Amino acid sequence: MLPRDLPSTSAVLTDPAALPVLDRHGRNAVTEAVRAVLADLRTRLVAGGQSLEAATARDVLALAAGKLEASGRSSLAPLFNLTGTVLHTNLGRALLAEDAIAAATGAMANPVALEYDVEAGGRGERDDHVRGLLLELTGAEDATVVNNNAAAVLLALNTLAKDRGAIVSRGELIEIGGAFRMPDIMAQAGARLVEIGTTNRTHAKDYRAALGADIGVILKVHTSNYRIQGFTAEVEAPELAGIAKDAGVPLLNDLGSGSLVDLSRYGLKREPTVREAVAEGADLVTFSGDKLLGGPQAGFIVGRRDLIAAINRNPMKRALRVDKIRLAAIEATLKLYRDPDRLAQRLPTLAMLARPLAEIEAQAARLAPVLAKAVGSAFTVSVCACQSQIGSGALPLDTLRSAGLAVSGSGLNDLAAALRRLPRPVIGRIEEGRLLLDLRCLRDEAGFIATLETLS
Ligand SMILES: *Cc1c(COP(=O)(O)O)cnc(C)c1O
Repeated sequence: MLPRDLPSTSAVLTDPAALPVLDRHGRNAVTEAVRAVLADLRTRLVAGGQSLEAATARDVLALAAGKLEASGRSSLAPLFNLTGTVLHTNLGRALLAEDAIAAATGAMANPVALEYDVEAGGRGERDDHVRGLLLELTGAEDATVVNNNAAAVLLALNTLAKDRGAIVSRGELIEIGGAFRMPDIMAQAGARLVEIGTTNRTHAKDYRAALGADIGVILKVHTSNYRIQGFTAEVEAPELAGIAKDAGVPLLNDLGSGSLVDLSRYGLKREPTVREAVAEGADLVTFSGDKLLGGPQAGFIVGRRDLIAAINRNPMKRALRVDKIRLAAIEATLKLYRDPDRLAQRLPTLAMLARPLAEIEAQAARLAPVLAKAVGSAFTVSVCACQSQIGSGALPLDTLRSAGLAVSGSGLNDLAAALRRLPRPVIGRIEEGRLLLDLRCLRDEAGFIATLETLS
């Protein structure tokens, strides 16, 4: 066909089939998409596209509608995390509990007493909605909440050690994925890094030797995402707390993930709890909201009342504070911890971490034939044993026995890409020449089956 045989924009827009498309996307967007499709077809015809089949108004409309659907899809729409990493930072970490979602939704749609004391009819404090719960759950004197744990560390360091030294062991100068590198955070906080000891061994005398008049804080950092093994020595928090106390310098313990409960009661390995870190004598403890705690992104600082008051007076606190939506979700999440017996049913993160292996295996057996049918005879699908990770730097060496589906055959990268392009993307991992879908985090089995049916 020739360029002049293409339908006009108005012919496409007035076609009766255009009505539902106009209704869905609006006249402006549809007109633009139709123009873009026509321009593209014209270019191809001019470039010698004799092979181009006749393009009717309906064809152009279908192409334009396809474009609009694709561009209208949210890049933050839900997906299936079958990577085997439960708290996957790139996939948004913790999933919120139903109570937390309801609380957040309520706060989104309605006025709430964010900084208002309903009883007294006057001004209230934003942090008060969660302060009491944090004290109850951690045993600390006081608490404050900010945007994330990186912000908590930044704010605490800036408050305690601006233009002063911050002592940290060389074995704890961590990088947590990309932009969180302890030396950089210190520099941004205005603190001078005083590194002591060696990568594998740091002793009490190293801390004592570095203490002096210009030291603002001793920092202890949980080495979340790695372990130093072999000939090692570190000064444990209780001893360090004694050293800090003798010198009159506050001890800040950055727990990272931390946990509000002893995870061993749910069959998991123990992580240090926040309550223990407080009891061990740290003056301040910082931890994340969306790691093992299972809430929204947030950073908590708990500890000595005078230090929390100083932090709250720091103008930086205002820039790092959290909004009403997250505060509502945090409050609802923390309340679940009052009943540890039912926590594993209510907190999705814990439910996934503690999910019984037999249940995952049974799900894999149910889904193997469904996946086999969806991927076609070019691939072989089998149920396999695999190892899940907790993720987000919690317990890096302790994997969880899990089960999943292993796909083998040639063209696995293409298959993985096709699964990622589904309306609800399926994200697995390629391991030892197989595409592995770890089912530990699959909660919506019916939705997964429906999604697989759209794989062509
Ligand atoms: C994860 C982590 C952080 C950063 O916490 P975010 O909530 O991701 O900002 C800081 N310190 C440690 C030890 C961590 O594990």
